[in-house]
Formats: sequence, C-alpha cells, structure tokens
Amino acid sequence: MARRSPRVLVLLLAAASSVAAQELRLAQVPVSGRAGLDSLARLGFEVADVRTVAGRLVAVIVVSTQTERLLVARGYAVAAVAGAPAAPAADTFKVFRSFDKPGTGIRATLAAWAAADTLIHLDSIGASIEGRPILAVKIGGAGDSPARPNVLFMGTHHAREWVSTEVTMRLIRWLADSLPPALLASRDIWVIPVENPDGYQYTFTASRLWRKNRRLNTDGTFGVDPNRNYPAFWGVDDAGSSPVPGTEIYRGPAPASEPETRAIMAFHAAHPPVLAVSYHSYSGLVLYPYGFRSGELAPDQTVFQALAGTDLQPAVRDSLPASSLSAYHPGPGWTLYATNGEYTDWAYRAYGTIAFTTELTSGCCTPDSGLYYGFVFPDDSAPVDRVFHDNLPLALAVIAAAGDPGAAQGPSGLRPAAARIESLWPEVRISLESAAPAPFSLSVRTAAGQIVTRSARADSLWRGRLRNSWRSDVSTDDARAVRVDGAGLGAEFVTLAGAEDGDAGWTGWTRASDALMGRYAWYDAGNDTLTSPVMDLRRRTRVWLQFWTKHAGSGFALQQRGQVQFSPDSGRTWSDVAALAASAPAWYPVRVDLPAAAGAAGARVRFVDRGMPWWLDAIGVATDSTTVFRLLAAGGGADVSENPVRGDQVVISWAAGTNPARVGIYTFTGQRLIATTVAPPNNEYVWDLRAGGRRMPNGAYLVVVEVDSRVFRRRLFLTRTGS
Ligand SMILES: [Zn+2]
Repeated sequence: MARRSPRVLVLLLAAASSVAAQELRLAQVPVSGRAGLDSLARLGFEVADVRTVAGRLVAVIVVSTQTERLLVARGYAVAAVAGAPAAPAADTFKVFRSFDKPGTGIRATLAAWAAADTLIHLDSIGASIEGRPILAVKIGGAGDSPARPNVLFMGTHHAREWVSTEVTMRLIRWLADSLPPALLASRDIWVIPVENPDGYQYTFTASRLWRKNRRLNTDGTFGVDPNRNYPAFWGVDDAGSSPVPGTEIYRGPAPASEPETRAIMAFHAAHPPVLAVSYHSYSGLVLYPYGFRSGELAPDQTVFQALAGTDLQPAVRDSLPASSLSAYHPGPGWTLYATNGEYTDWAYRAYGTIAFTTELTSGCCTPDSGLYYGFVFPDDSAPVDRVFHDNLPLALAVIAAAGDPGAAQGPSGLRPAAARIESLWPEVRISLESAAPAPFSLSVRTAAGQIVTRSARADSLWRGRLRNSWRSDVSTDDARAVRVDGAGLGAEFVTLAGAEDGDAGWTGWTRASDALMGRYAWYDAGNDTLTSPVMDLRRRTRVWLQFWTKHAGSGFALQQRGQVQFSPDSGRTWSDVAALAASAPAWYPVRVDLPAAAGAAGARVRFVDRGMPWWLDAIGVATDSTTVFRLLAAGGGADVSENPVRGDQVVISWAAGTNPARVGIYTFTGQRLIATTVAPPNNEYVWDLRAGGRRMPNGAYLVVVEVDSRVFRRRLFLTRTGS
C-alpha cells in the first residue's frame, strides 16, 4: 500500500476543500476489523457502517472526489455503495425540512408551536457561525426551577443525520401532548432539535451528506466536527478525532473553539442536566461514557447499564422492517470506536450528567430489497414515527430517572446495582455510593491463606456523581477473598480459571499467550464453546461470575456475539445469563450475578461464541460474603498473617466469639504495647508495628487474644530488613 506523509494528506485535503460545495457521496472500502476502522479514522474518515459484500468486509464512508483520490493513493479500492439512493440536497421533502424553510422549517414550526401551546417555550441559547439561533425548547412550565431536575434531549450535531432532528421534533410534540402532568410538573425538560443549524441547513441547500459545522478553517477547508470539539479528552489521540482541518472528524483548533459547542456548554452551566440523550444516526447503538479509551468503564457504569440495558436485555428495539438488527447495542462509547472531545464524555465529566448517545436505526438492507435506511432515510412519516416510538421508552425512563438516578429503572426492567465488589481478581474494584466514606483499607486473603491489608484509591476517572469506583493496589494473581473495611462488603472466590497449566476440566477453546494474567488466556476464533467443569456451590448464596474479556466484534455487525450461559444441573439445561457484542480491543471486567447458582451442586458455565474472535481470562465464580475471613481462624486459636513479619503490618485474627475480644501485644519482657478490644463480628486486628507513636524494633513479641474466656497466645517475630 502506498504510504504518504501526514503533510501530503494535509495538502491533498486543503486542495480538496477549496471547492465551494463539494459533491459528497457514500462509498465503500474493504477493511479488516477494528484495525482497519482505526486506519480510516486516522485518515479522518467517519465510518458510518460496516457490512459484508460478496464475502468481504467493507466500511461505508462519505467521500468527495478529492478524499476518494487520497484513499486510492493509499491503496484502497473505493466503490459505490450498492442500493444506496442518490441523495440530492433539496428542501422539497414531505417529512424532512430545513432549518430556515419559510412556514414549515424547523425554526418556523417551533415558533408556531410555541405561539399556540402554553406548554411549549422557545429560547435561543446562542448563535451559530452563520448567525442562526441554536434553539432550545422547554416543555412544561415556562419557569426554570432549581428544585426541578433538568433533562436534555438533543438532535443533529452531525448535519446529515436528519432523522435525529425529526425524532426530537416528535418528542417535543409527544411530551407536550401526552406526558403525564405530574411528571411534566416535576421536571425541567429541554429539547435542542438542531445543535448544528448551519451544517443542517447546508445539507438541504448544497450537500446532502455534509457532516460538520460551517467554520471556514485557516487552510481554506470548511467545518469542525461538533461532536469532537468538547473540552473532555479533546485531542488525546488522532484516531478518536483528527487534527487535519479538511477531514470529517476534525476536532477544531482548540477545545470548544466553535460557537455551537460553547452554546451547549453555557446551557449546561445554567441548567445542568441530570440526564441527557444526544441523538445521532445511524448504527443502532445506545452509547455512554467513556468513549475516549478502550476498556475504560465509568464509575456510574451500573446506572448507565440499567437505563441502556445490556445485549441480553436491550432498552431499545429496532422495529423498522428489514432493519439490520432487532435491538440497539448498549455499551461504552469505545465499543463502536474511540472518540474524543465528544459530548457524553464531556457532560459526564463536567456535570455528572448520565448522558447517552443514541445512534438511531441499525440501518438496512440488502441491495435488492428496495429499502434503505442510513444517513439517507425514507421521506415517509411511517418509518420516522416508528424510529420515534422505538426510542420513546428509553426517553421516558430517562425523564422518570431524573428524580433519583441512583434508583433508575430502565425499559428492560434493570436497576443499578448497589454498592458491590465489581472485580476480585486480578484487580480489586469496588463500586460505592459517592457519599459513602472512602474504604480506608481492604483486607485481602491470598492464595497462600495469608491476610494482607491494602489501600484503596480512586482517580478522577473513577469518581462519578452517583458512585465512585475504588481500585486496590492489589494486582497480582494472589487475591482470593476481599473484605472492604467499613463498607460491609466482602467476597470470596470459589473457583478460578485462567487457562493456566493447573486449570483442569475446561474444554473447547485454545490457549493464547495474549494473557491478562499468568501466561495464557482462553481464545476462540469464532465458533467454539468454552465449558467449565462442574462446580459445587452447595451452602453458597449470592453467587456471581466474574471474568475479564476482550473481543473483536463490530459495533456494526452485532449478530456476531458471545453468549454466556449457566447450568445448575451439570450441563443438562442451560440458560443465557449475559451476552457480549461489538468491539472491545482492551481487557475489561464483567460481573454477572447468578441467582440460579445458589446452592447448586452441579453448577457449570459456558461461553458460546457466535462468530466473534473472543478472549477470556481470570474466570471466577465468587460469593458475596462479609464473613469470609472467619473461616480462616475457625479451626481454633489465633492466627497471624505473617510470622516472621517482614512487611509493615501484621493481621491478627481469631475465631470470633459472642463478646468483644481483648487484644494485647507485649514485648518479650512483658511491657504492654497495645491493649484494645474488637467487637464481633470483626475478628481481626491490624497492627502497624508501632506503639506510642514509635516504630517498634525487630525482635520477638507476644500476642494475647482473650475471647469468651478463652485465651490464645502467639509469639511474633519482626524481621524487617532496613530496620
Ligand atoms: Zn453523528
């Protein structure tokens, strides 16, 4: 393939855009998986779709004569998209209308609605580069009350995505006409039907497939991508946005360089939304933070997931005839491809907004079907109405959730998980309500049966408005049980398998050296099933499955997926417990609750691969329990985590009694250093090897634990180096 320097790319694109109104058209180019998509992104193209044509994977993109020349120069075979209708710009459609069209355009329609309906209020929140108002509609009372939570819906960041504006227009009408009055009175609901009015207008008057705003760039090209211009993770890499002005995903010269972006930001400062949905088209996705980096999960992941659903229980059905998918894939933004400077990451980071990007409609169709949905959507109210009604349940769930987003209920019935341990091994991750005190320490029982205490920390990416995620500094294959001091959380692994030499009884997949932990991970190229041995879960309650995974599916080809199944009866019957789809190039943890596994003597799990290159590692079954550490010393006596002690602390544990235990630590000459009591159910004392503010020297000490009239004595030796 011919190589060109970035400088040549810039020159080609600069030459490209000196043409005033570019002819843009849909084109397809062969790609090979996510790496191929990233290559196109690094050339500045936005991939609209990926489909299989004559057995080959092709990406659908928008090209001009000049950008096509660039692709050809780089060795791409560029072809027209079969079945895509010609898309002349015009303002004479039955359903679609421009922003400015007299009488029936978006601006005129909103003005007429506001004049005729006391529940519809129209305001301008800023002006575009060409001076058009960015219109915000408030539905309900005219006044804006700090006592009422704000909810925001937006359409058309990207000019050509017309169906997104039509969906927001229908939403305004529906909310004013049909939303229950009590809900209307208790929310401040806002709709911005056209975030990018200049670009939108341009698609009716000059170029149907225009995407960006109408900024005249310094090199003579036009347009900044409004959904790559927000000041969150702006420009962190050149795949999630482009520094090259002429490209489709140009992020602008600086964060928030565009007046349209600044208008949305000012709106958020004045009316910070508790929840928001930004509609785009197309692909059939409900995306949420984070999008800027693969594998990164938001601390409020369980809230996002409750509303957007899962691949097993999706929140949005796609009921369009012959649509590519039957439901929209929900997931972090990176499951489609990485984006930076994007709206939902920004709103979540800046205001804690539970913000979604919905890519309306999953597209259609076979070339000979006569149907086509994509950027170019049928000029017919019936399918537009259908898209609106498919998306209404999630919109209503979002409005309802604004009262108490921590208790959100999604259209598929999911609710956010309470405080819990999200991952035990090889990295401990804990999700706590943001108001909860920081877990000052974790007690970790290692594979060798020792107890060590570790700190927990949350960096800024892990702090949400509703939940914080805490991560311990344990990142070994050692943790087997964890107790979160002060949070009432504990969990213990029952079984664990990481495709290592000792992990017997698993069948079906191959071992790959591309491992998360240890030497190997499980891998399957696309059609096999990985089945666990039978696990005895008798006396176990609150059982969950944890694994780490990555997969080379596609956000555009969600028929490729991985199913996770559970059997309580040694494999006679199976039921789906989770499904995974789309693209995940980096390892991320998944926790799946298994209520049916409680007490099962013949528990098995299996991973059924349907066409998706798939990696798994650190597969474990765990139980929630705050009593996991009692087992350690239940055999009698008092125990210490390490003896001789080489670290900075030692954990003393004993079989808990009914009364508080008295713990004493003495020098070998009988001088008392520590005297304390520990009330059950706690049955541990962590000694930091200090007494009276002094670090105690190496040597021999005596530990005495008195509990329920029994007395346990242990000698303890400190042999730290460097003392
Ligand atoms: Zn878009």
